[in-house]
Amino acid sequence: MSKKTLIIGAGGVGNVVAFKCAMNKGTFGDIVLASRTVSKCDDIAKNVYEKTGVKIKTAKVDADNTEEVIDLIRNTEADIVINVALPYQDLTIMDACVATGTDYLDTANYEHPDTAKFEYKEQWAKDEEFKKAGIMGLLGSGFDPGVTNVFVAYAQKHYFDEIHYIDILDCNAGDHGYPFATNFNPEINIREVNSKGRYWEEGEWKETEPMEIKMVWDYPEVGAKDSYLLYHEEEESLVKNIPHLKRIRFWMTFSQSYLTHLKVLDNVGMTRIDPVEVDGCKVIPLHLLKALLPDPASLGERTKGKTNIGVFVQGIKDGKEKTVYIYQVSDHEKCYAEVMSQGVSYTTGVPAMIGAKLMLEHKWYKEGVHNMEEFDPDPFMEELNIQGLPWQVMELDAGKTLEVK
Ligand code: NDP
Repeated sequence: MSKKTLIIGAGGVGNVVAFKCAMNKGTFGDIVLASRTVSKCDDIAKNVYEKTGVKIKTAKVDADNTEEVIDLIRNTEADIVINVALPYQDLTIMDACVATGTDYLDTANYEHPDTAKFEYKEQWAKDEEFKKAGIMGLLGSGFDPGVTNVFVAYAQKHYFDEIHYIDILDCNAGDHGYPFATNFNPEINIREVNSKGRYWEEGEWKETEPMEIKMVWDYPEVGAKDSYLLYHEEEESLVKNIPHLKRIRFWMTFSQSYLTHLKVLDNVGMTRIDPVEVDGCKVIPLHLLKALLPDPASLGERTKGKTNIGVFVQGIKDGKEKTVYIYQVSDHEKCYAEVMSQGVSYTTGVPAMIGAKLMLEHKWYKEGVHNMEEFDPDPFMEELNIQGLPWQVMELDAGKTLEVK
């Protein structure tokens, strides 16, 4: 029987998911795209139809309201919900999936709007409910988290007996020509970047000040870039799921100009998430900043350059030290030419579609709530090559390490 797919969220990532599901219509069947602002869904549906000839339906939903999501799932008779709204909606959408017996996928873990802290605790706690409802939840099926988890699982399966060190290396060398803009939702992005850094070593989490630790990494096809240690959500699940691990860190590139703008905005209070009173109105400064900054979905047309995201893994195979670097390079302009989105939305939306495809085809299927590295990486890695995210594996000299200054 033909499947039915519900996508919630019509931003940069939702646009890519809608395009890619339409391009794989044989698996996704009838597609409905829903968001708070239905005109955004209609614009995407129009572009998808013009470029692919596939008609998708649109709907309005406030996904903060579980009952509204339940009604929408019932009306659309969806087999799967692909949640690419904001992390704030993860729990309400998961609850709606439990109530209706519908499979669930997202790309970012739950965050409460009032606290800039993300963790899997509340989503993992729904494991039993998902099992009782006989449904699957796949968490973090974007690029990072998502593909990075699958790269680690692939390294574990094909290259290592024991993985000891993981460094996740995320570079966006794209240039959109604006003095300051973020490549995905500005609120989520700035909350993440302004949080304390954290990494895991020898059984414990170690905290750093934001941007305290920096190194220079030479990203293939991009070049040497300043890379800063951040905390990122895939570290939490990989620590749990990769045995023998001694350390995991996450690095992201930022230009000096981005960091200087952010510092000024921080210093004047524009990144605060608590309300302040302005002319008798309560205003959250970060919400005002978001409204002033370019919409990430509008950056596609003007962004040039490449992204390179990968995992640098060290460990032991057959008693000998081994180092493997698995990475993927995307070109912003190529992404735009294909689906009218820049590379950051593309590299997130394509894996969201692939995760959902493997679930619908039952190539990845386990009841309960799961992270990406719990599944056989091979079918996902094959799909990455087919669906527009080809990857490379580099075997390096044994014992090569990252030099952190
Ligand atoms: P955008 O801000 O561009 O889009 C978010 C969309 O969600 C908008 O259409 C918005 O609609 C909709 N939305 C927000 N609140 C609600 C609500 N209550 N009910 C229904 N819809 C709502 O974000 P992106 O597309 O850049 O990012 C989407 C997700 O992808 C985020 O969760 C982000 O963290 C994640 N992400 C994951 C990455 C990864 O590699 N794993 C990388 C990049 C992003 P409206 O405009 O009407 O409010």
